[in-house]
Amino acid sequence: MGKPTGFLDYEREETHAYSVQERIKNYNEFHDSLSPEERRAQAARCMECGVPFCQSGMNIGGMISGCPLNNLIPEWNDLIYRGNMEQAYKRLRITNNFPEFTSRVCPALCEKACTCGANGDAVTVRNNEYSVVETAYKNGWAKAEAPKVRTKKKVAVIGSGPSGLAAADQLNRRGHRVTVFERSDRVGGLMMYGIPNMKLEKNIIDRRIDIMKAEGIEFKTGVNVGKDISYKELKENFDRIVLACGASNPRDIKVDGREAEGIYFAVDFLKSTTKSLLDNDLKEGMYISAKGKNVIVIGGGDTGNDCVGTCVRHGAKSILQIEMMPKLPDERAENNPWPQWPRVCKTDYGQEEAAAVYGTDPRIYQTTVKRFLKDENGNLKGAQLVGLKFEKDEKTGRMNMKQVEGSEYEVEAELVLIAAGFLGSENYVTEAFGVEVDGRTNVIGQNNTHKTNVENVFTAGDMHSGQSLVVRAIRDGRDCAREVDESLMGYSNL
Ligand SMILES: Cc1cc2nc3c(=O)[nH]c(=O)nc-3n(C[C@H](O)[C@H](O)[C@H](O)COP(=O)(O)OP(=O)(O)OC[C@H]3O[C@@H](n4cnc5c(N)ncnc54)[C@H](O)[C@@H]3O)c2cc1C
Ligand code: SF4
Repeated sequence: MGKPTGFLDYEREETHAYSVQERIKNYNEFHDSLSPEERRAQAARCMECGVPFCQSGMNIGGMISGCPLNNLIPEWNDLIYRGNMEQAYKRLRITNNFPEFTSRVCPALCEKACTCGANGDAVTVRNNEYSVVETAYKNGWAKAEAPKVRTKKKVAVIGSGPSGLAAADQLNRRGHRVTVFERSDRVGGLMMYGIPNMKLEKNIIDRRIDIMKAEGIEFKTGVNVGKDISYKELKENFDRIVLACGASNPRDIKVDGREAEGIYFAVDFLKSTTKSLLDNDLKEGMYISAKGKNVIVIGGGDTGNDCVGTCVRHGAKSILQIEMMPKLPDERAENNPWPQWPRVCKTDYGQEEAAAVYGTDPRIYQTTVKRFLKDENGNLKGAQLVGLKFEKDEKTGRMNMKQVEGSEYEVEAELVLIAAGFLGSENYVTEAFGVEVDGRTNVIGQNNTHKTNVENVFTAGDMHSGQSLVVRAIRDGRDCAREVDESLMGYSNL
């Protein structure tokens, strides 16, 4: 530990976000960096715990606590404090292929489990990680390092989200020839066309892809596997196949009026903004616009929040975000102690922006849509909302959600965005390969591995585990790569 009294000497200091009025003028990331001296002080707050919960990645109380990648957090915090950023980057890269992504979009499970947070403020682990990786890029330490020896084995990775990219990166390091197939026009999966630019600027993805290309990985975009290219063709040309196609099947809201013009799935809406931003700098008419519209976002989670932040930037007239569950408490409840993941109410950037622009928090709780209202031309003009309550089922003893009779009311809306979660993988891919899926259409790994029921076909990421997080997708891609490597070489040192 660099400074034994660091956690007593220094207060937690986060990077500063630009004011709402400033940041909603564009779609850029909106945080400043601390100075190197200030960053060292933040790293000095780390106590290098004997039992570092921050890097544990354990399942506690049904949720993951600590870093799923088991990042060597105390080690690189110490190296930051000592000013040895190059070594810190090397330690970081041992466990994490893409710290530039996680340090921007991860909900920082490490910080929620940090011992300092048991009685005070957690160490700024995520911001520390960001400073390590950005310093590495600035100094040219993040560079292509192609494998010295090639194995002559060929692997096809289908899908270029974080799980596919992590699997590709690991397998390429081992010397296998890797080709990544992506149906979209750009690489990155939901990091490219789900997570908005203000959370992760897209040149950050391109910067890493350029390195991966220089290291020998081939990327084929605009290729829809299962449609443009068959399993048979892949089987003939590759020794192993990794399916990392995500869980892109959105959950729908099946109520009267659903066919009205003006109702979209969240990812289609977010993708259209990012694609237009990258293709033509948001030229009018090239994306689904919320400008001047009353918007309802259905779903109170992170995707819903991204929709809110995007609608604020479009210049929506009003935004309402509806959530079925009750509002979570502001502080941890007694039955949710550290180091469990805190089940508390989080106000994210989009909600903060909406509150500043429209005067109130956009969220309402225990509410759902009963029906959508449309005009004579079939265009959406509003929705009938209804309150929800929990009621005990006398037979089973389970708590069920019930609509509150007489609580219906109507609100105006010309745009509805459905951010109600995802149901699993898409049928055409799983059917093309003949891989087994479970009841949620996640691809089944045999005996808790990543190996599917089809010979030489493996799976990773959301397609395997269901919709999750970037950090968990990277972890799953790495675990899958080790099994693929083992199956090719008889052992693995990944
Ligand atoms: C709006 C939104 C915001 C999110 N924000 C965060 C966040 O802030 N932090 C966080 O940690 N997580 C976030 N997530 C979750 C996170 O993005 C995902 O868990 C993660 O990207 C999953 O990675 P993956 O590699 O398994 O799949 P994906 O990222 O979904 O990538 C799968 C890729 O496979 C491609 N593909 C599918 N089928 C085929 C085919 N047949 N042929 C070729 N290519 C194919 C797809 O086009 C896609 O590019 C968010 C998700 C959404 C939807
Ligand atoms: S739990 Fe917190 S204080 Fe302890 S090693 Fe991890 S980051 Fe440092």
